[in-house]
Amino acid sequence: ALTAGIVGLPNVGKSTLFNAITKAGAESANYPFCTIDPNVGIVEVPDERLNKLTELVQSKKTVPTAFEFTDIAGIVKGASKGEGLGNKFLSHIRQVDAICHVVRCFEDGNITHVSGKVDPIDDIETINLELVLADLETVDKRIVRVEKLAKQKDKEAVAEFEVLTKLKEALESDKPARSVEFTDEQLKLVKGLHLLTSKPILYVANVGEDEVADPSSNKNLQKVRDYAANEGAEVIVICAKIEEEIAELDDDEKEMFLSELGIEESGLDQLIKAAYSLLGLATYFTAGVQEVRAWTFKKGMKAPQCAGIIHTDFEKGFIRAETVSFDDLIAGGSMTAAKEAGKVRLEGKEYLVQDGDVMHFRFNV
Ligand code: GDP
Repeated sequence: ALTAGIVGLPNVGKSTLFNAITKAGAESANYPFCTIDPNVGIVEVPDERLNKLTELVQSKKTVPTAFEFTDIAGIVKGASKGEGLGNKFLSHIRQVDAICHVVRCFEDGNITHVSGKVDPIDDIETINLELVLADLETVDKRIVRVEKLAKQKDKEAVAEFEVLTKLKEALESDKPARSVEFTDEQLKLVKGLHLLTSKPILYVANVGEDEVADPSSNKNLQKVRDYAANEGAEVIVICAKIEEEIAELDDDEKEMFLSELGIEESGLDQLIKAAYSLLGLATYFTAGVQEVRAWTFKKGMKAPQCAGIIHTDFEKGFIRAETVSFDDLIAGGSMTAAKEAGKVRLEGKEYLVQDGDVMHFRFNV
């Protein structure tokens, strides 16, 4: 299963956030595909559409979908040079599919900051530099091998040498691999390098308790927003300490607490949704009287593969998928009405499943 790694300097609130995740999190028993590991937190994906579907088909049960966060403890300065546990942290980052980078925006005189002052951009650059240096090492090693072959006019080597040179240029000017533009062919080569700075990233700005209602009052936050915008990355504003408290509440209490704070959606819920999308994941639904259920698929998957997520037999014996978009179904008011309006399609093996599709698979046993 794909996982999003939580990364950041020491004392920025990673453990607090991860605590909130595990407290709010789902039991892995409900999600057999999930790992049982203390460093992995399983979260259910909040999705307003589930309740609407449950109401529409009057189903007895509602099952959300889930995915995993991985806690990658405190990367330290000098990690790429193998100081202390440095290399271990980098190898853990290598294993995750997306990066959630927690940065400290809250001021609190009682909590020391590793570099002595709260400066989120400096923090971001510290970690990003470590990742860039590690990638540069990977690229340099590879270039030595490929260059010889490229000089002998080996076609594949020439193509790879071009890719490596572009990457080297970017990394040497502190730019992440993901910022470099490549053709689809070249991207395949880049993928094979498993670079750390190729992984999609978002920033989690950890603000103070008294700032969540009006985060613009935090002067550090705007700097993070500007930095991220420049990279085309998303910023999620969160108060990890408050999320830890919220995670202990039941749904009703949570709603009351949030409205007292003057916020609509908890930072953690926003983070879950953003990380899910960052991983390239999307949701389709099955909706019956017994159960309405959300299923996670990877964007770009076709109908038979998506059927296979429910059961391998569904994929093997796939015939067709009766498909209606969530919006069309809700607009119709019932499955029958949606059918009468011609909104329910019969999709075949080549159909690219879309986020929000409500599907019924037909298959041979
Ligand atoms: P980590 O080293 O990144 O895992 O950081 P921790 O989660 O252990 O947090 C370091 C300290 O900062 C702890 O004392 C936390 O209680 C505190 N902390 C974390 N988030 C917040 C926050 O949003 N506001 C305040 N005031 N303190 C926080």
